[in-house]
Amino acid sequence: MWDGARREEAVAADSRVSRPLATVDTDRACGDPDVPQINSKSKEKESIKSEQEKKRKKKHNDYQPNYFLSIPITNKKITGEIKALQNAVIQQDKRLAKAMVGDGSFHITLLVMQLLNEDEVNIGVDALWELKQSVEDVLQGRCLTLPFQGIGTFGNQVGFVKLVDGDHRPPLLEIAEIAKRMFQEKGILAGESRSFKPHLTFMKLSKAPWLRKHGVKKIDPEWYEKFIQHRFGEETLYRIDLCSMEKKKQSDGYYHCESSIMVGNKTGAEPDDVELVRLSKRLVENAVLKAVQQYLEETQNKKQPGEGSSVKAEEADGSGNGSDNNRK
Ligand code: AMP
Repeated sequence: MWDGARREEAVAADSRVSRPLATVDTDRACGDPDVPQINSKSKEKESIKSEQEKKRKKKHNDYQPNYFLSIPITNKKITGEIKALQNAVIQQDKRLAKAMVGDGSFHITLLVMQLLNEDEVNIGVDALWELKQSVEDVLQGRCLTLPFQGIGTFGNQVGFVKLVDGDHRPPLLEIAEIAKRMFQEKGILAGESRSFKPHLTFMKLSKAPWLRKHGVKKIDPEWYEKFIQHRFGEETLYRIDLCSMEKKKQSDGYYHCESSIMVGNKTGAEPDDVELVRLSKRLVENAVLKAVQQYLEETQNKKQPGEGSSVKAEEADGSGNGSDNNRK
């Protein structure tokens, strides 16, 4: 059983979710025309302050998450069952294949954030490493098992497999809340104004926007009716990744990871051989990518002082549209 006080704290924290991204004090930013004129020095001060507020406001308005914390779904039973669900949907309309989440990239998003350059990515990696101890504190040596059953949608646009209600939810929400706080405390723009709703996405109409023009505007509940009560299996939390929404995916179909932490009771969540091979492959891929990126940056800086590296743009898979994690 999970500690009730903790749960309350998590719920209380949840009600503060919208604040960090809405911290702009619009009253102060806009100024008041009725305020009497003061001397020029304070006028100057006021204008600097207002400029700063404007910049701050712009930063918040420009908030476009491009990174996220992911709990990867590695249980073969779950991925196999989701494939069966996706095939059942596709059988009803072949065009829907383009709206399916790809093999290897099933995940639970714990937190979205914006990391705009290498320095911010490094801060994000530090925050992830600091998160490890907090996650262990929440878990207290126990396994966090996440069971999935049934189907839900967000506005009939995003189809997901539901996380079952139960004792595993409060610690998961608590971990998400702690993660958000830790990243924000490091100055990272993180989180969303809506509350965290853990889900396992299997399809998104936004992946195939042209479907709309062809009359597919909503996910039809009939497509997945056979799976409405279906048990998809359980995933044990053992890893959290800091992933890019925009960089080219790995060869196994999973997102590009900047770093990962292993968490939880190891014996209960020992990765199998396939997972170990995956992990080591990913580490090598990341190391090679980083080395190439560094080499290109260094040679570019030597050749064209003042010009940045083009590696990021080349790595991006060109899906940088949308204002949220639709980029994924
Ligand atoms: P993800 O599974 O995290 O890739 O999310 C899939 C899509 O669901 C993204 O486009 C998100 O913006 C959207 N989404 C995530 N959480 C919510 C929510 N609580 N309400 C509505 N849409 C959401």
